[in-house]
Amino acid sequence: MGLSVLSVIYLIGSVTFILGLKMLSKPDTARKGNLVAAAGMALAIVGTIFLYKSDGKHLHNYGWIAAGLLIGSVIGVMAAKKVKMTAMPEMVSMFNGMGGACAALISVVEFDHLVHSRFDLREVFSGMAEQAVLQLHKLLQSGTDMSVDLSPDLRGHLLIILLGLIIGAVSFAGSVVAWGKLNGRIRDFAFKGQHIVNLVVMAIVVIGAAVLVLTVNQRMEDTMKAGSADGLLSFQLLFYLILICALIYGVLFVLPIGGADMPVVISLLNSFTGVAAACGGFLYDNPVMLTGGILVGSAGTILTILMCRAMNRSLKNVLIGSFGGGAAAAAAGGKEQGSYKEISLSDAAVVMAYAGKVMIVPGYGLAVAQAQHACHELEKLLEDKGVEVKYAIHPVAGRMPGHMNVLLAEADVPYEKLLEMEDANAEMPTTDAVLVLGANDVVNPAAKSDPASPIYGMPILEVENAKLVIVNKRSMKPGYAGIENELFFQPKTSMLFGDAKQVLQQLVAEIKQV
Ligand code: NDP
Repeated sequence: MGLSVLSVIYLIGSVTFILGLKMLSKPDTARKGNLVAAAGMALAIVGTIFLYKSDGKHLHNYGWIAAGLLIGSVIGVMAAKKVKMTAMPEMVSMFNGMGGACAALISVVEFDHLVHSRFDLREVFSGMAEQAVLQLHKLLQSGTDMSVDLSPDLRGHLLIILLGLIIGAVSFAGSVVAWGKLNGRIRDFAFKGQHIVNLVVMAIVVIGAAVLVLTVNQRMEDTMKAGSADGLLSFQLLFYLILICALIYGVLFVLPIGGADMPVVISLLNSFTGVAAACGGFLYDNPVMLTGGILVGSAGTILTILMCRAMNRSLKNVLIGSFGGGAAAAAAGGKEQGSYKEISLSDAAVVMAYAGKVMIVPGYGLAVAQAQHACHELEKLLEDKGVEVKYAIHPVAGRMPGHMNVLLAEADVPYEKLLEMEDANAEMPTTDAVLVLGANDVVNPAAKSDPASPIYGMPILEVENAKLVIVNKRSMKPGYAGIENELFFQPKTSMLFGDAKQVLQQLVAEIKQV
């Protein structure tokens, strides 16, 4: 009875994950999708705690479970409530890292179980009389082969444990480094021959894991014949060496990746955590954990591929290229570009009020200034005056995938007004004025024209094809990739300096006077 109710609960949980994910793909249903999937997860957790049975016994350690749930929930709720929209990627990265750590810890615990329950005679036969154990011991010493009976699935089991350990540890260490880089605590770091060091560390991990898997049956037999688990020390040490090397690899793999490549790395690490969690699902024969892990793994992989396409780069190039690295960025940022011109608020108001079509390009600065509501007000005012207003959305604008969509949805900007990059670029030549609000890298023409630029090859919003460009930002400082933007120095472009929210509020006031 318990098992069948639990199976239904797991089925419901799995279906809610799939539905939730589907709903997350549209801004108007995304919030509900998140709640649906969270409800499914809550149901699966409660079901597991109270109905799951292993060897006919319910879970125990309820005190520990309750404490873990309570502490985790309090930290999660507080972090999610306090986090600023612009710091979301950091939080996503940290939470993702925690998922990886959980998967790796599951593997550590399961390896410990495997070693003690399979290798230690006293544990394996704890229910038997001492006499029977001694007889069995003698039998084994006489050369009887017991390995087939005791370890039919041992290699497969250990392989899954190791996969969860390695992928989870890489994801944890990499996510923590990504978190530190996004909030500026950790700087890009690369040294000569780093790829070779990375390869050596990875080779230790792979070869070590292969040795463990290939020798596990023999070790078990030897240990049982010897009648003690003492000979297993080297086996256990190799396991922990693999864990340490996987952690080191996670750090080394993310440290040199910088600049505009961070979103791709975070999404890749996300997919790693999904695969590591799926390994946990295999270990515990838990379908909902398996489904959840597979969904996260595949969604993360698809997102990684889409983002690579949006940046016109291969994954290999992102992982081992030097795109967006500090040194390259600094060098490119040092170029002298000439002079720029400014536009006054009243002139900008006149330009936009009398335009036929205005394209707004939102970027990271709009999120920093929390100017989405003021932006929507400007858009409504212009439309009332008969101006056609649209938004051009670059896939990596802001600091997380979909950042601008979420931000503008918060201010109730109609979804039909948001144009994807290709559609927006097609409309640029018929646009009278582009208003760039706190965006920089995503409108930098160097991505098309300067092969030495660290963002060369990334598709951009081609705002220079419009008749006039007004750029709002606070200064001439560079954006995320740390490079100068030649757009600001072109004859068509005028700078409108100031905080995006204040500038938009003042523009609204000016346009009302026009
Ligand atoms: P950028 O980071 O290139 O530029 C943002 C600009 O906003 C800055 O130049 C800054 O200039 C300006 N700004 C900051 N605060 C304000 C404010 N209060 N008011 C007005 N302007 C302000 O942003 P983009 O959106 O153009 O590009 C995103 C970049 O981030 C890309 O390089 C992308 O690869 C990267 N990235 C994207 C992620 C994603 O998933 N979307 C994740 C991580 C990185 P000033 O200081 O002069 O005001």
